[in-house]
Amino acid sequence: MKKILITGGAGFVGSHLCKRLLNEGNEIICLDNYLTGSKKNVIELLDNPYFELVRHDITEPYYAEVDEIYNLACPASPVHYQYNPIKTIKTSVMGAINTLGLAKRVKAKILQASTSEVYGDPAVHPQPESYWGNVNPIGTRSCYDEGKRCAETLFMDYYLQNQVKIKIIRIFNTYGPNMNPEDGRVVSNFIVQALKGEDITIFGDGTQTRSFQFVDDLVEGMIRMMNSRDGFIGPVNLGNPGEFTMMELAFKIIEMTGTRSKIIHKKLPTDDPTQRKPVIDLAKKELNGWEPKVALEEGLVKTITYFEELLSGEAVSVKL
Ligand code: NAD
Ligand code: UDP
Ligand code: UDP
Repeated sequence: MKKILITGGAGFVGSHLCKRLLNEGNEIICLDNYLTGSKKNVIELLDNPYFELVRHDITEPYYAEVDEIYNLACPASPVHYQYNPIKTIKTSVMGAINTLGLAKRVKAKILQASTSEVYGDPAVHPQPESYWGNVNPIGTRSCYDEGKRCAETLFMDYYLQNQVKIKIIRIFNTYGPNMNPEDGRVVSNFIVQALKGEDITIFGDGTQTRSFQFVDDLVEGMIRMMNSRDGFIGPVNLGNPGEFTMMELAFKIIEMTGTRSKIIHKKLPTDDPTQRKPVIDLAKKELNGWEPKVALEEGLVKTITYFEELLSGEAVSVKL
């Protein structure tokens, strides 16, 4: 049994990771300040004596004796991370310093949840890990993009200077149950709008692309990365190479939900990347042939079912 710290564990991705690692017989400390996550996401785990939920802000030091750390604490939706940009960058940078300091002290392995956003509005398509990116350092997305880039730098420097056992993953757009309905990201927005019969809001002309990964595929990749051979530190892309325009996504969700919602167009946010698609050769090679298994339609069915239950009051998240 390993003792594992998951920062941001009460968020969307973190809650799935907590559940999976707990079910595999590990002891979990789930640390969260509930900025965008919620106790409700892990409520079913609270009775398990090997699960501990801690309210803590990772910009402050934290002390525990653990074997592994997954560092996920950071708001991930543009709406949320731009709400308090200074707090966002503090969370990435000071959160990295504190979790790395902890990893150094207790000699734990530590995995950083970085992001495809480090590629910015990419001039290279699709994006391999070797691409350095095209990021505006002073724009509205910079608090997130540059915070995550700086966190990667800190991870590398703790590895080089202090021999901390690090792993870096770059996550591409991921969706699934436990997304916050108010999250503001495109998949949850379109599904919630469709289920409520509200207008579906496409930002810009809808020709921009994203590659959508179902959360179970991501969690599998994260665990394989944590257990990858010593000396393999990444960064490694984890994403689904299937690439869709926002228009295609909207049509798919309209068709699948049978909604009468209409599409409307809103202003494209500044610095919104025009395209995004991962090269996943490195993940396949280093993570025992890892590749996404869940196609977009299949993942959307599960996500739509989750939001249907949530909105009709059946899911635990709204029972509380
Ligand atoms: P989320 O917003 O659902 O989860 C983030 C969690 O971190 C929340 O529970 C939040 O309350 C917590 N948190 C935020 N600031 C904190 C702080 N200062 N101290 C302690 N906890 C704090 O987002 P998510 O989609 O689950 O993302 C998890 C991680 O994966 C993030 O680091 C994000 O940058 C990264 N990521 C996610 C995606 C994606 O598409 N889901 C893509 C790229 C990277
Ligand atoms: N830290 C922490 N928990 C620990 C050990 C360290 O939160 O178990 C914090 C510590 O407060 C410091 C940061 O991690 O601010 C970096 O620690 P490190 O030892 O690398 O640097 P130093 O303490 O020398 O500044
Ligand atoms: N988007 C959209 N309508 C929405 C929310 C987002 O058209 O209601 C677009 C957004 O402009 C972007 C894409 O969908 O081009 C993905 O946005 P999201 O916020 O999910 O993630 P990110 O931009 O961080 O990839």
